[in-house]
Amino acid sequence: MPITEFELIERFFKRKPTRTREIILGIGDDAAVVRAPAGYDTVIAIDMLNAGIHFPPDTAAADIGYKALAVNLSDIAAMGAIPAWFTLALSLPDADEAWLAPFSEGMFALAAQHQVDLIGGDTTRGPLSVTIQIGGWVKPDQYLPRAGAQVGDRIYVSGTLGDAAAGLALLPQQRKDSAALHLVTRLLRPTPRVALGQKLVTIANACIDISDGLTADLGHILQASAVGARIQQSAIPISSALHEAVTNPLEILRYALAGGDDYELCFTVPAAKVPQLENLRNQLDCSITQIGEITQSPGLQWVSVNGDVTRLAPQGFQHF
Ligand code: ADP
Ligand code: MG
Repeated sequence: MPITEFELIERFFKRKPTRTREIILGIGDDAAVVRAPAGYDTVIAIDMLNAGIHFPPDTAAADIGYKALAVNLSDIAAMGAIPAWFTLALSLPDADEAWLAPFSEGMFALAAQHQVDLIGGDTTRGPLSVTIQIGGWVKPDQYLPRAGAQVGDRIYVSGTLGDAAAGLALLPQQRKDSAALHLVTRLLRPTPRVALGQKLVTIANACIDISDGLTADLGHILQASAVGARIQQSAIPISSALHEAVTNPLEILRYALAGGDDYELCFTVPAAKVPQLENLRNQLDCSITQIGEITQSPGLQWVSVNGDVTRLAPQGFQHF
């Protein structure tokens, strides 16, 4: 006999909150009650994942659970906030326990890493769709906006770019070499750069997480800040796995610039604060790389490895 909606929530989603001081009331009432710590503002984001659009329909339940939370944590990271709680709206074709168990394990494994508590949600029958809303905290006005980039700022990215897009392209091939496996893991289990985002709050002028590709997402910073950028091709950080798994250099470049789903941070730092950023390096669990600088003239100037300068439209990478 299929389990009831009530049993499903009890078994798979009701866990004791870890943030007992701030989660006044969690799962089980008509709504949750939360409190921000004294002296903090609340930051809220929401992201929806639909089967067949945001992940292949046959994606493992544990990976879907992990990623649904990871993409939301990434938005919190991009704001420089401390993640605190989340709610989960779940549309399921049926109450399949063999799917729900790994789904909730994948999700709670990441939740535990970041000390975020599931405080409520909704469960309905329908096509597979997972929506998570997340809440976090920042000190008043200490969030990282898109609109703060200044002419002369250095532009940085965390980690490496293009891995997830390459992983998506490699997925159907079911390759078992370690490079391909690494790229697929980067797609299915992105690492939200939460600690980095919080450290950048007093250093960066602008920040965004890269979910749609570097050019599109850096483009959002440029547009919001009414500035331009010059980017050095030679500086774009590419993983050894991407170099190993994909031989065509133009394909690598297309993944790195126009591919989505990396969930790395792209941020701008004024020259005066570069020493502070440099001091951070050995405290971080990811690399940070300067890829260019903010310019007065609008748009994106691309400096190729041989020094040619071209202007790029935000998504104009068809020529690669
Ligand atoms: P209501 O009818 O008042 O909306 P529900 O029966 O939908 O109540 O939910 C009962 C409780 O279980 C609520 O506290 C709700 O937040 C929680 N809940 C429902 N679905 C989920 C879910 N997928 N994840 C976490 N909590 C959930
Ligand atoms: Mg409800």
